[in-house]
Amino acid sequence: MKTAQGVTVVENGQIVDGTGAAALPRGAVLIEDGRIKYVGPSAGLPLVPAQTQRIDARGGTILPGLVEAHFHPTYFNVAELQDLDIKYPVEYVTLLASVNARLALDCGYTSARSGGSLFNIDVWLKKAIDKDLVPGPRLASSGREICGAAGLMDWNPDFRKIGMEGLVLLVNGPDEARAAVRTLVKDGIEWVKTYPTGDAAAPDVNDHHTLCMTFEEMHAVVATAHNHGLKVTGHCRATAGIKNALRAGYDAIEHGTFMDDEALELLLARDVPVVPALYFELASMERGPEFGMSQRVVDGHRETLEGGAESARRILSAGGRLGMGGDYGFAWNPHGDYARELTFFVNYVGFSPLDTLKCATKTGAEIMGLGKEVGTLEVGKLADILVVDGDVVRDISMLERRERFIAVLQGGVIKAGQLAARFAAQPVG
Ligand SMILES: [Zn+2]
Repeated sequence: MKTAQGVTVVENGQIVDGTGAAALPRGAVLIEDGRIKYVGPSAGLPLVPAQTQRIDARGGTILPGLVEAHFHPTYFNVAELQDLDIKYPVEYVTLLASVNARLALDCGYTSARSGGSLFNIDVWLKKAIDKDLVPGPRLASSGREICGAAGLMDWNPDFRKIGMEGLVLLVNGPDEARAAVRTLVKDGIEWVKTYPTGDAAAPDVNDHHTLCMTFEEMHAVVATAHNHGLKVTGHCRATAGIKNALRAGYDAIEHGTFMDDEALELLLARDVPVVPALYFELASMERGPEFGMSQRVVDGHRETLEGGAESARRILSAGGRLGMGGDYGFAWNPHGDYARELTFFVNYVGFSPLDTLKCATKTGAEIMGLGKEVGTLEVGKLADILVVDGDVVRDISMLERRERFIAVLQGGVIKAGQLAARFAAQPVG
């Protein structure tokens, strides 16, 4: 991704640097050739050349670009499981994914980590974004997910004879788990996404207390992935599944819903980050029934919500790391609503706005492996910055209102917000 050339100053706003530190009033950020050269009080701003580009934050907030840590670029208004894989052909889903990527950037998300995608779309979407062919967040890819046969993601009945091609690699035993990871290595992915447990959303027996992979399968996944330099994460609801993942050497946990003391200890021992993706549960409870969700599933989401909120609070107060991501792309939780997760964590889970913002910036970047490049406003980092006309510490829901975004910068280039010159289509060479 190209960075800006020349000098830009972002000024006249409070600085929220993403570290969890209190906001600094009357701050400024100096950007030179796409990287942060100074961040601090306006009064201390070094002298800048006459032709410096100036961005006026209008008394609002200057913060790091947000990181969506559980992004499904290929999900689009999913109302039932089949919509995940057989609703549209892969050609159309690829186009939809690029629309979702652009939308995420418009929403202030300058980075995103895929939580799994149809076929290998996110790998190629990432390449297109990196080459500036399409606008979107800096992406970490996952490609197809791995699940035990007959587990949560193996829902197509055998009589249909279509398997789960495109969405999930189904495995029976450690040998097949190793083979699945090797397939993904060749695909060029970065994060192996697995399904150690089921989910309240399951239409069948694979609910949130069910295990969908054995420890041996998970261990084989980790050993193979780490050998090839890939990281491993997994959809973990049930307590035993969380512990299996942590003991197998997982690098992150998605959801981490039902953590007991032992699971928390295992988590903290290796400082493994968790992405709860919790607002999805409330959205499912509130809006699921309009899409035919059964009472049993709604009740399961309620149990998941309460368990997940309690676990998130325990992880934060014990000093653990959490990323903000939301499983967006369902009919009741559509793309574009990403920042609702942040509002939800403040209003429902009880996190402070500054802790929530740290999770959504610094920790998200660390999870992606980009902690040295983005995620905080610090000298030397890439200028991925969100400039908002409003006080997001006082009212975090301001981040849901794109019309209040003055500028969304990636590497110092204004990509979205009021100041963006709309992205003109580039001819593909
Ligand atoms: Zn997901």
